[in-house]
Amino acid sequence: ATPMSIMVGTGKGASNGILIKSAEALETFEKVDVVVVDKTGTLTEGRPKLALVEPQSPFTESELLTLAASVEKGSEHPLAAAIVEGAKDRGAQIKTASAFNSITGEGVEATIDDRKIALGNRKMMIRVGADDERFSSLAETYRREGQTVMFVAVDGKHAGLIGVADPIKETTPDAIEALHASGVKVVMLTGDSRATAKAVGAKIGIDEIHADVSPEDKNRIVRELQTSGAKVAMAGDGINDAPALAQADVGIAMGTGTDVAMESAGITLVKGDLRGVAKARRLSQATMRNIR
Ligand code: ADP
Ligand code: MG
Repeated sequence: ATPMSIMVGTGKGASNGILIKSAEALETFEKVDVVVVDKTGTLTEGRPKLALVEPQSPFTESELLTLAASVEKGSEHPLAAAIVEGAKDRGAQIKTASAFNSITGEGVEATIDDRKIALGNRKMMIRVGADDERFSSLAETYRREGQTVMFVAVDGKHAGLIGVADPIKETTPDAIEALHASGVKVVMLTGDSRATAKAVGAKIGIDEIHADVSPEDKNRIVRELQTSGAKVAMAGDGINDAPALAQADVGIAMGTGTDVAMESAGITLVKGDLRGVAKARRLSQATMRNIR
């Protein structure tokens, strides 16, 4: 494309909240036929709210909340903010945690009052030796409602379930509809569980769902789609999305997300409005049409 037409396209994007960092993204987008989207923070608001606290005896609800929130204070994950805020709202005490450790796509751990606390998904529980079939199936029932359910373990033993609900962004259904109308396939990738992913995906008509995926899996799935002949755009907001954003033919970051995601993407949707994806594709078509 000529520098002039790229400038015009970039300017139009900017006035629509679509920041186009690379000319290549604008040139390539018209050929995109698969859009891969992350769930948390991309399809959903990413500002989840605490919705479930289910302690396992001898722990009480307020003890479970104290432990969970005290560990999550060290995390920047949207799930962490939900747990800390929810715990404060319910009057739970927050304690000092040491030896904090975060495992991307799995959860967090720390030491509180000489006890080792772990909080996260099933992979995290397997890691600390607290995986238990009974509680996994209990978690599944809440997940089918669309909640993200996490396990809390204390010294390698199950201590309770914490669930958060993350509403779908108001603009998401229109965004998916616009992509479908232009013949684009929409694939969801999430580190969240299958049951939660299915509940969310069914509400908005996602074509293909990959759940329980690690950050490396996200990257691999994008690569596999490319190998099968698709031109792939990937939209995401998190550190865990960065490798896949870089791998995609067009990477799209949510401006409401992490800096790492924005650095890895050619396009940023300033307000995190996913309708910008279909708009950016149309902008690319118009730009390339002008040049031919
Ligand atoms: P997504 O791909 O949907 O943005 P992530 O890959 O960030 O989700 O997280 C995947 C899963 O890992 C979460 O659903 C949660 O179960 C667990 N997890 C990640 N970070 C945390 C955390 N700070 N606290 C508790 N659980 C976490
Ligand atoms: Mg995310």
